[in-house]
Amino acid sequence: MNFQFYLHKNQNKPAKPAVYKHAIVIGGSIAGLTTARVLTDHFEQVTVIERDGPSDATEFRKGAPQARHPHALLARGQQILEQQFPGLVAELIEGGAVPMDMGRDFAFFIDGAWCQPYQSKIMSTACSRPRLESAIYRRLAAHPKVRFMHEQEVLGLCVDEQKVRVTGIQLRERGNPMAAINELAADLVVDASGRDSHAPQWLESLGYTAPQETMINAFPGYATRIFKRPADFKETWKGLYILAMAPNHSRGAVIMPLEGDRWHVCLVGMAGDYPPTDEEGFWNFLRSLPSSRFYDVLKEAEPLTAPYGYRRAENRLRYFEKLPRHLEGFLATGDAVYAFNPVYGQGMTVAAMASLALDECLKAQRHQHGDQTLGGLAKQFQTKLAGVIAGPWQMATGQDVLWPACEGGQKPDRITQMINGYMERVIRTMPYNIAVADAFFHVQNMLKPPTSLFHPKVLWNVLRPGSRQPALEQRVERVMTPEPVLASGD
Ligand SMILES: Cc1cc2nc3c(=O)[nH]c(=O)nc-3n(C[C@H](O)[C@H](O)[C@H](O)COP(=O)(O)OP(=O)(O)OC[C@H]3O[C@@H](n4cnc5c(N)ncnc54)[C@H](O)[C@@H]3O)c2cc1C
Repeated sequence: MNFQFYLHKNQNKPAKPAVYKHAIVIGGSIAGLTTARVLTDHFEQVTVIERDGPSDATEFRKGAPQARHPHALLARGQQILEQQFPGLVAELIEGGAVPMDMGRDFAFFIDGAWCQPYQSKIMSTACSRPRLESAIYRRLAAHPKVRFMHEQEVLGLCVDEQKVRVTGIQLRERGNPMAAINELAADLVVDASGRDSHAPQWLESLGYTAPQETMINAFPGYATRIFKRPADFKETWKGLYILAMAPNHSRGAVIMPLEGDRWHVCLVGMAGDYPPTDEEGFWNFLRSLPSSRFYDVLKEAEPLTAPYGYRRAENRLRYFEKLPRHLEGFLATGDAVYAFNPVYGQGMTVAAMASLALDECLKAQRHQHGDQTLGGLAKQFQTKLAGVIAGPWQMATGQDVLWPACEGGQKPDRITQMINGYMERVIRTMPYNIAVADAFFHVQNMLKPPTSLFHPKVLWNVLRPGSRQPALEQRVERVMTPEPVLASGD
């Protein structure tokens, strides 16, 4: 397949010629790939350094262990990726990925009730994380300006004599402590090395302050396995979701479709109620969910893998924008800056949004300084990124802080408490009101800002008396096997 066509976001409007020489991106995962794509519009050469081998559609990489768990690509993330890599979505669908309308195809069970199906036109595409990543990787690897260096580990930063500006990185062959440490020069270094980034230590070793960080941990845990979808499966939903709800419903689960007529099944336990990864424990947890629907469909399906656990999904935010002094030419993005409890599937989409923020900052830099300097860019970018992160951070942590077991963060002030309380009410109203569900899905998919949930129409639907009575209307019929109606706590 010829990937050259993606070179410009808008083919009728070629990007301005690059003015800077060489940029290095540390980490070739979603944040690294989207960042590298943007940098090709501004630099003559972009090198992505990744400690793993090339991304493959069917292999899980050691460096991205979370990829074994369902990775929902939100509508906004999909829009950005399609803009950066035209034809990506069609390629994924051709390869078996499943297009999903958020309101119609995903059945949500919240606080004892199922959301009503409706056509939302909020579209995303479900596939495995390796399939998505490798499709992006192959397109970027075909870019004439991009070079990947695999099996190489970045060990630290190189700086000028005054230690004010980054001049490159130190790297070594992965897993070979006897190998030589080499240096690679660059004008810009972007750290996209994920949750375990060493950027704070690298900065400290150069005499800079490490960014302060907030950790909010409601002790989520996941156990995921892949099932073959039964050939005679008749129901019209494509994905199922039981939302764990603080403070009493610690158990949730999700079924997401995967290429190859498979299901990605993930059990979710909050507040340390970790789902087991042994066979018996997995099925017992499934049986204990507040809706029997998961167990009923899965007992007819063939498991293709053993359960795989994950317990490091706490929320963590590093305040790079507040550093008293920035190392010029050094930026951090993606999970290296923010890492969310993935309950709302935000990480990849925010990474893509961060790449757009970088594009804007680089355009402004060029407008102001031409090709003269990248000075000031670090502060500009980290400040802009903080603005991008604020809404998703509130979304991810707003529910988590309601768990009594939750650790970290500051005690929320009265306004934050009111916002969290209102958000909780929005979520609990979703099964009874399509307009509220639609408003929430638009925010969750980052198509609208969180403030849109405070529009008078939404406020009224959420706060009016009887807002959580069963609705009469059923716009789209979704075929579901009957199950006993559970009481919803109002
Ligand atoms: C359980 C779980 C489920 C999730 N589900 C979703 C979801 O449904 N939807 C969603 O959008 N997001 C989800 N996420 C978040 C998502 O995985 C990340 O936000 C996304 O991968 C972007 O991360 P990243 O590129 O910044 O870092 P990562 O994906 O962690 O990648 C970092 C890369 O850097 C490389 N690297 C690290 N150190 C070095 C070094 N020193 N030198 C060279 N290379 C290095 C690693 O090998 C790796 O490839 C989930 C996360 C978890 C934990």
